[in-house]
Amino acid sequence: MSPPVTRLAPSPTGALHLGNARTFLVNWAMARRSGWRIVLRIEDLDGPRVKPGAIEGVISTLRWLGMDWDEGPIVQSADLSPYEDAMRALARGAMAYPCELTRGQIEAAASAPHEAPAEGEDRSAPGQESRFPSSLRPALWARGFDRLDTNWRFATPGGEVSFVDGFAGAQRRSPAESIGDFVVWTKRGQPAYQLAVVVDDHRQGVTHVVRGDDLLDSAARQLLLHRALGLAPEPAYFHLPLVVGPDGRRLAKRHGDTRIDRFRAEGAAPERVVAIIARWCGLGVAGRMSGAEFAARLEPASIPRRPIVCTPEDHAWLLRDD
Ligand code: GLU
Repeated sequence: MSPPVTRLAPSPTGALHLGNARTFLVNWAMARRSGWRIVLRIEDLDGPRVKPGAIEGVISTLRWLGMDWDEGPIVQSADLSPYEDAMRALARGAMAYPCELTRGQIEAAASAPHEAPAEGEDRSAPGQESRFPSSLRPALWARGFDRLDTNWRFATPGGEVSFVDGFAGAQRRSPAESIGDFVVWTKRGQPAYQLAVVVDDHRQGVTHVVRGDDLLDSAARQLLLHRALGLAPEPAYFHLPLVVGPDGRRLAKRHGDTRIDRFRAEGAAPERVVAIIARWCGLGVAGRMSGAEFAARLEPASIPRRPIVCTPEDHAWLLRDD
């Protein structure tokens, strides 16, 4: 039997901060303590948000924290043919179609009276893709994947997707209702995140996906794509609660400079950063801990199931030398 495989999948859209470093370190430690292979995959298809030099920066930060990997870095943009093959399969199977509607047109259709949002549905959440109303889906037929400079949408099948998440527990989602047909190929001539992840997880043999729970909704979409493309086995998912600032919002610039490079430049030891992440994982830790010790001592079952709050006192502690 081949060993389980996981991936570290940073997006080179900026430097790692304490929140994403925590997720990668937990992922790495779970793999190392259980003998999973680790693939480093650089997810650089996020068009305009990719920053020059960020790939080297992210790799250097992961290494500085004590992480290593068995394969990679594999850079997504180096070869788009596997994603094009997947698109051909979806198009041929009448499961995807080109769509030139603008966001404005979609939002206008989505707010038409018969498309009123479900009670409690927050359309205005930042960064949220607007729901694609089913009334906008054209007739589906088997076609060629012939227009690479157009957005293509996946014809999201109706019904519920259920799965058991290793951290978040039993999940039920209805992507057809909550999100509708979503973009799988972008007019930039590149796969969208959802498709790229599914194609790569399969071809890289990934059996265990560990990441932040901001991607919990995406897991249901990704499972539907795995099924549509006939890719098996489906990976097991582990979605960690996010690291948040004192205001309860996801860690970001507004909470000050939490980039690992900043602490590194100001003289913090990597063992200090690992120690604070270990504390957040429920381990009793003094001032320092190596990555190897963290991997040996981490108990995934004891990781708190609520968001981790990162405070200004934590920033100060990282820079102290006791
Ligand atoms: N590249 C994504 C990120 O850095 C992770 C995607 C995934 O794990 O599926 O947030």
